[in-house]
Amino acid sequence: MTRISRSHPRYRSLVTRARLADDFRSGLVVPEGLIAHGRAEAFDYLLGERTTPSARRAIRHAADWLVAAKVPALSVNGNVAALAAPGVARLTRVLPSLRVEVNLFHRTPQRVYEVARRLRKVGVTEVLGLRPTQRIPGLPSNRARIDRRGIGSADVVVVPLEDGDRTAALKRIGKKVISIDLNPLSRTSVTADLPIIDELSRALTELARQIPAARRRHVRAFQPFDAEGTRGAALETISRRLAAAAGRRRIRAGPSRPVRRSALPPASRTGRPKRRTP
Ligand code: ATP
Repeated sequence: MTRISRSHPRYRSLVTRARLADDFRSGLVVPEGLIAHGRAEAFDYLLGERTTPSARRAIRHAADWLVAAKVPALSVNGNVAALAAPGVARLTRVLPSLRVEVNLFHRTPQRVYEVARRLRKVGVTEVLGLRPTQRIPGLPSNRARIDRRGIGSADVVVVPLEDGDRTAALKRIGKKVISIDLNPLSRTSVTADLPIIDELSRALTELARQIPAARRRHVRAFQPFDAEGTRGAALETISRRLAAAAGRRRIRAGPSRPVRRSALPPASRTGRPKRRTP
């Protein structure tokens, strides 16, 4: 992997990119996955690169649903394995009933093997979906292939980095769908019963942290969730931050109201302010 200086203001982002590029070269990640990551980074930047209070509430609610579920399942694609295999393993440790299933749009035996290998390496003991036994009706392509013991029998399915068609198809066959997607406008976020609008690794870490607390709450039923509200809150955060950033530009051009430092992108907080070109 390329050496990246720890002092770089965007160190973590660069390390993640370099890891994804390595996983692309090894075949775990497909080129389309790199593009999806780029889009997600843009939304993360706009959301402030941290778990927002509304995302945290969504994660807490998701923990309740997962604990209340008879059969909870988690769908894993190449990007999920590349970006967050340890997070998946941590979640299975706190929620042993969770079925972990490989699902790939660009499915080849080699990629399925690579995803399963990455998961097993970090401690996921049972990986399903290697030989799918069922299809989701009404969904063309490989994404329809599921495992009867995993997503096939699940009542709650977590779909990180999913697309809208599959989210809708899972709902049609009666699954409760929890998505993890930084884009509040994606068809997945719009369609999911419980959209978590947060970065995958952060969201999985927080979800694993919330599971024991959910268990202590003795949740038995699926309490309704305000999906519209959480998407609205994410869009509100983005517009607030954009407005603040626009305000900062007005300050330089002339008098305007001050801007909170927390509203600025991290790079602007750490480095010296860039000189504006005329
Ligand atoms: P949709 O059909 O839901 O509109 P899409 O088909 O455009 O979405 P994909 O191209 O499959 O979706 O991209 C998957 C989604 O995953 C994108 O919306 C992207 O924002 C999101 N995503 C990618 N990486 C991450 C990440 N690390 N954390 C959270 N979300 C991510």
